[in-house]
Amino acid sequence: MPHTPIHIIGGGLAGSEAAWQVAEAGLAVVLHEMRPVRQTEAHKTDGLAELVCSNSFRSDDAGTNAVGLLHEEMRRAQSLIMAAGDRHKLPAGGALAVDRDLFSADVTRQLEGHPLISIERGEVAGLPPAEWDSVIIATGPLTSPPLSAAIQQLTGEGELAFFDAIAPIVHLDSIDASITWRQSRYDKAGPGGTGADYINCPMSREQYEAFIDALLAGDKTSFKEWEASTPYFDGCLPIEVMAERGRETLRFGPMKPVGLSNPHATTNGPGERLHAVVQLRQDNALGTLWNMVGFQTKLKHAEQVRVLRMIPGLENAEFARLGGLHRNTFLNSPKLLDGSLRLKAEPRLRFAGQITGCEGYVESAAIGLLAGRAAATERLRLAWVAPPATTAFGALLGHITGGHISIDDGPREGPRSFQPMNVNFGLFPELEAPSHDAQGRKIKGKERGAARKRALSARALADLDRWLAAPRQAAAE
Ligand SMILES: Cc1cc2nc3c(=O)[nH]c(=O)nc-3n(C[C@H](O)[C@H](O)[C@H](O)COP(=O)(O)OP(=O)(O)OC[C@H]3O[C@@H](n4cnc5c(N)ncnc54)[C@H](O)[C@@H]3O)c2cc1C
Repeated sequence: MPHTPIHIIGGGLAGSEAAWQVAEAGLAVVLHEMRPVRQTEAHKTDGLAELVCSNSFRSDDAGTNAVGLLHEEMRRAQSLIMAAGDRHKLPAGGALAVDRDLFSADVTRQLEGHPLISIERGEVAGLPPAEWDSVIIATGPLTSPPLSAAIQQLTGEGELAFFDAIAPIVHLDSIDASITWRQSRYDKAGPGGTGADYINCPMSREQYEAFIDALLAGDKTSFKEWEASTPYFDGCLPIEVMAERGRETLRFGPMKPVGLSNPHATTNGPGERLHAVVQLRQDNALGTLWNMVGFQTKLKHAEQVRVLRMIPGLENAEFARLGGLHRNTFLNSPKLLDGSLRLKAEPRLRFAGQITGCEGYVESAAIGLLAGRAAATERLRLAWVAPPATTAFGALLGHITGGHISIDDGPREGPRSFQPMNVNFGLFPELEAPSHDAQGRKIKGKERGAARKRALSARALADLDRWLAAPRQAAAE
């Protein structure tokens, strides 16, 4: 008898990956995506796996960076999202950036063309019907209100939304090339890059101080009362909030001047020590649009144009998109979900992607990959074995389903303690940093940190390969 289909709600990063994994396990999938019938406040197209903001999957360095390691683990697990990302990569130094339109079109084509996947366009506007016995909910940070309300009623949790800010995009032909220059930090070439992949805007001390003054005085989008106390995710702080935390915060964050040298003649001649730098990264394959790196902002639009044009090289900048605010809906997963991402209160429902409390395109797709595999394993009546905690998959899953220890079970007054997180080496079980290199030389100072990360990565990939190769046992009845 053919298997009844697994239903996946949401064709974003997580839902697309989950659908692929289930279908590749030989099982039928129905993927429900509400766009274009109903849009979200951030998506612009009807494409599956649309990237709503930056076009970067971040570092592709599997040796010393946790998200680079996650890329590699996903590639080894036959990820659709990584394969499409690799096919449409753009130059971006050590990062993996993609052409968002070609990437999304590729994912859509692969899913539409799979014989075991059918795609239904329409909103699932409440709890899935009872006859859907295996469901993955991957509706993301902008889950439609009727579905969030239904989930909320089921879980008994309070409203779980807060606001993040997004970065502006500039037209290349409006950037002054006599002031800016192209260079990647430390001239790092990375995948598909040249070492000169970013556009850099230099700032002197005076220009930086004037810019901070303008940010602090700038007219901000006002929050509704209940939004005002909701915290930002630290990796996505608006520049004006960073400036409020301290005048030097931006210079140690997105505006840090390290690893760059200005070739243009300035007061002190070429190569002068830079005080601060604003970087822009290519956003489309044509190279006509450039994204301001780390420049999320909630300044009012007219104010953004005025303040951002104070940046040397951007005096006449034309903006293809200005910064803005977005909603982020996520569950208190460590309390609500089991180790295979099922809702404890209703195990036919699994969750995947950002709604589970991971953060970022890659992490969301990775949790989609695991949810898809877990759902397929269950349908095939095999025992689910979670990826080892030493892998990036396992570390991320651990954060969501149990790794976070200070769960507030009592009545809450402040924000909940479980917060969305990018994958990072802090989530991995400890490993003693090697003291000597392969040649027997003592590893010193800063090098030890990098050596520790390389050791964590090597351990992760070896454990992952064993996990992927292990035969699956029948589930206990
Ligand atoms: C404005 C904004 C900017 C962001 N910027 C970045 C960034 O720069 N870098 C980064 O790594 N991450 C960013 N994120 C986070 C990003 O959303 C996630 O990393 C990633 O897209 C989440 O993947 P997902 O599959 O969980 O959700 P999504 O990719 O959002 O996919 C969810 C899908 O579910 C659909 N859907 C929702 N409700 C229903 C329903 N009831 N029925 C049917 N379909 C439904 C939606 O239309 C959508 O297609 C941003 C998020 C937002 C909102």
